[in-house]
Amino acid sequence: MTSLADFARENGIKYFMISYTDLFGSQRTKLVPASAISGMQKDGAGFAGFATWMDLTPAHPDMLAIPDASSVIQLPWKKEVAWVPSNCVMQNQRLAQAPRNVLARLVAEAAEMGLSVKTGIEAEFQLLNPEGSAIADLADNATKPCYDQLAILRRYDMIAEICDYMQELGWEPYQNDHEDANGQFEMNWKYDDAMATADKHSFFKFMVRAMAEKYGLRATFMPKPFMGLTGNGCHAHVSVWNTATGENAFADDSKELSLSDRGRYFLGGIMKHASSLALITNPTVNSYKRINAPRTASGATWAPNSVTWTGDNRTHMVRVPGPGRFELRLPDGAVNPYLLQAVIIAAGLSGMRSQADPGPRSDIDMYAEGHKVNGAPKLPLNLLDAIRTYDEDAELKAAMGEEFSAAYTTLKTREWNSYCSHLTQWERDHTLDI
Ligand code: ADP
Ligand code: MG
Ligand code: MG
Ligand code: MG
Ligand code: MG
Repeated sequence: MTSLADFARENGIKYFMISYTDLFGSQRTKLVPASAISGMQKDGAGFAGFATWMDLTPAHPDMLAIPDASSVIQLPWKKEVAWVPSNCVMQNQRLAQAPRNVLARLVAEAAEMGLSVKTGIEAEFQLLNPEGSAIADLADNATKPCYDQLAILRRYDMIAEICDYMQELGWEPYQNDHEDANGQFEMNWKYDDAMATADKHSFFKFMVRAMAEKYGLRATFMPKPFMGLTGNGCHAHVSVWNTATGENAFADDSKELSLSDRGRYFLGGIMKHASSLALITNPTVNSYKRINAPRTASGATWAPNSVTWTGDNRTHMVRVPGPGRFELRLPDGAVNPYLLQAVIIAAGLSGMRSQADPGPRSDIDMYAEGHKVNGAPKLPLNLLDAIRTYDEDAELKAAMGEEFSAAYTTLKTREWNSYCSHLTQWERDHTLDI
């Protein structure tokens, strides 16, 4: 096992960030001096769980975050600090509702079946002014801003700095671009095992936000910060590998779109549970303004509204862009990095076990002809719809863990109630003179 004290000595680390991710995806940390790290590595850092987004009370015992030393990352922009994702423990037991524990359990389930799930994510973000009220670059106002050459060059210093850091960390980044909304960017690096991708996804968000602050900006991953513009998605590309042979279990050239039977069943599980797993992939009130959205200024939302799948066509919820993998286009920037991977594995393995059929694929332009698809379920229309749909899916709830599911729906219901207690301008505009 990696000794964090040795790691500190070898790399000149002065402080460790012992960090865990709560149910809403916020990263919580204790800054621990290297001189105290040996004890913390063994016993964990103490947190009052109730003070973060966990379904706990102030009376609960301390929650201890035990660092996963093998996943430590030295901050490339502040080399004397290292970030360590951690696993939450309470009274000597892994806390079942903690997102990283949920994912660890599902990765272990896949391992029992001899499988490794490998995923790559595309975490889109927008660069705003520090107040968060508008896109920072006033010249970035094209109607079709995707791949805008000048606009990305104006952000060269920040984007290149982050990309250099990803190279330094060995993530194998391969492209950066301006995306379809004004002020929106995407940076891509190579897929990895689900847990490694979840840790990288978490660290990426932390790094992008920190770099944006350094450059006097504010980075947001909010699903739909501006109604008329394309939202911030977080597509996930998924493949499953035979751990023993190192072969891609989704690849089979003799099958439709070169997707093997096992790949089809995994996809069948995603299709079957799509409307309920939306609570995880689209976790906020705002998420439902990205999916189900009207056309944007650029001409398309690039987000799905129905449960459909296809080949290389970006208008559906699932796309099979090439052999041996599929892309789930449903998740948005608010998704919890650990729960995203967990729910993909939970739904996919349930599909494999039951040999779920994803149904026929559809190759139409869903934005133009979506009404022609018969019987494709509509995705939830709002957070409450999603909470109820998740709550009715006994199989998915069990696969994600009963304790987790209860905790998550409790907190999400409270969030919905808090939103509903807020009087909006829309109501005044539509009701004042009735
Ligand atoms: P697009 O914008 O066309 O959806 P990107 O290039 O932005 O695609 O992102 C593709 C993501 O898919 C990357 O993270 C890449 O590493 C990942 N990926 C490629 N092949 C696989 C695979 N076999 N399994 C899982 N992820 C993959
Ligand atoms: Mg204290
Ligand atoms: Mg992309
Ligand atoms: Mg994109
Ligand atoms: Mg994509």
